[in-house]
Amino acid sequence: MFRFLVCVFFFIVLSCNTNETKTMPIKEKKIVVAHRGASGYLPEHSLESKAMAYAMNIDFIEQDIVLSKDNIPIIVHDIHLETVTDVAIQFPNRNRADGRYYVIDFTFEELTQLNVSERFNPTTKEAVYPKRFPLNKSTFKLHSLQQEIELIQGLNKSTGKNIGIYPEIKEPLFHQKEGKDISKIVLEVLSNYGYKTKNDNCILQCFDAVELKRIRTELKSELFLVQLIEFEEEESKLEAFAKYADGIGPWYKQIIKGKNEDGTWQLSNLVTEAHELNLKVHSYTFRADELGNFENFEELLNVALYQANIDGVFTDFPDKVADFINKN
Ligand code: CA
Repeated sequence: MFRFLVCVFFFIVLSCNTNETKTMPIKEKKIVVAHRGASGYLPEHSLESKAMAYAMNIDFIEQDIVLSKDNIPIIVHDIHLETVTDVAIQFPNRNRADGRYYVIDFTFEELTQLNVSERFNPTTKEAVYPKRFPLNKSTFKLHSLQQEIELIQGLNKSTGKNIGIYPEIKEPLFHQKEGKDISKIVLEVLSNYGYKTKNDNCILQCFDAVELKRIRTELKSELFLVQLIEFEEEESKLEAFAKYADGIGPWYKQIIKGKNEDGTWQLSNLVTEAHELNLKVHSYTFRADELGNFENFEELLNVALYQANIDGVFTDFPDKVADFINKN
């Protein structure tokens, strides 16, 4: 009888474990997210930078999403165009009263006419990251979410790998004021391409907590959701985030607070508190050409990944992070 009970007990334990693995598909290993593609090497969010990132042995490729006038989800970081395209030259009269050119004022057809370049300051015309790809060289274009998913899914087919997507809904409130429900449109595209649940290798992110909660509750998304944060006051809201999100995406300076006199680093409790609530921590943005007080990129990665124990990084240099994780 005792032996029977022991068997039953182990059977239950094993079944529970199996179930748990099934409901926690996002890998336990540290994940590398190609931030705007391999944006340290090629203009951010170009399809070329996504293809390059794909070849870097990483886990996810990021998409920032803004809607066009005709409701096509466009892969671009800002709601404005003049910091990464030649919109001011091609459509000089299409700016709003604030002088800026809005993605949402242009049709998809018009947007695809623009030339994309490395990010620059529109006033000084200087590159934001001077060591990166030169300004206004070669030819890069804007593209839709559908086109990017087809690139990544096509590569998944031809290489036999399974690299995920990591879309971000940009400025939902702005879209709402313009009469557009960006989340609904994006979720529909994702669903059409097979991204519906936590098993589908897609993580959806947003800075707007009201909107991300709405995505889970009102729009009933079953995707893996990450609540992006950037301000200190958001750090006390983890319990509320845990009710609808699966992870948080903090700025790494919310985790690594500074350097002690003995050379050790001061870490906040954010990662521990998030882990206690079963929230993954994917932190942004790790740049080899923007190191702050760190001696080198490896030191920054070591402190974040192995001292603070974050679960994943958004990086402009996906090859360097993948190499670092493989070596450690
Ligand atoms: Ca982003």
